[in-house]
Amino acid sequence: MNANILVVEDEEPLALLLQYNLEAEGFNVNIIDHGDDVELAVLETAPNLIIMDWMLPGVSGLELCRRVRSNAKTCNIPIILLTARGEETDRIRGLTTGADDYVTKPFSVPELVARVKAVLRRANPESIADVLTVGDVELDRSAYKVNRGPREVRLGPTEFRLLEFLMESPGRVYSRSQLLDSVWGQNVYVDERTVDVHIGRLRKALNRGKEQDPIRTVRGAGYSISDQSEKVQERA
Ligand code: CA
Repeated sequence: MNANILVVEDEEPLALLLQYNLEAEGFNVNIIDHGDDVELAVLETAPNLIIMDWMLPGVSGLELCRRVRSNAKTCNIPIILLTARGEETDRIRGLTTGADDYVTKPFSVPELVARVKAVLRRANPESIADVLTVGDVELDRSAYKVNRGPREVRLGPTEFRLLEFLMESPGRVYSRSQLLDSVWGQNVYVDERTVDVHIGRLRKALNRGKEQDPIRTVRGAGYSISDQSEKVQERA
């Protein structure tokens, strides 16, 4: 699971606990501890989900929900609101301000992780499915296997993660730097040409049987994966 999660929480021990447990589930996690920094961090890290504390220094979590929802670039990002208040009126206020779910402190970490997965599944079913399919390419996360039709495709770990990431959003074009951040990690310094090298290896493995190349190179923009057989049928 390659989803990016932004944790907005000023209690450092809790933020670190969430980071540790979410990373153990395979998520990429960024932490912000001040309300004033959130909007910029959301634009920079493009999270798939935000876990937001209600009581924050600076802008409050509730106001931030409202702002994330009112910005066209960020309005679809799911938000789970954390709060120490358990009153029913607050719950309703939180949900109507745009939070997708609501967790009252203290909470159990496994429960929060389960809610994170549930919210992500609703928002983007592909980010959580065990088997991803694009055309005749099938990637099974739990078995760590890739098939092209009946043929098994053998991939190195980086090519596997790269393919997995592209297959989560078929048709979407990712820049080299977005692929580096999401597949290699944000704190790793790797030259952008490394992406081209691994895309080359991935293509070679996928197209070994002389099939259509499912990976599209978009000049000046990056790479995407799509079902080429569909396009051929559309044209015919
Ligand atoms: Ca707080």
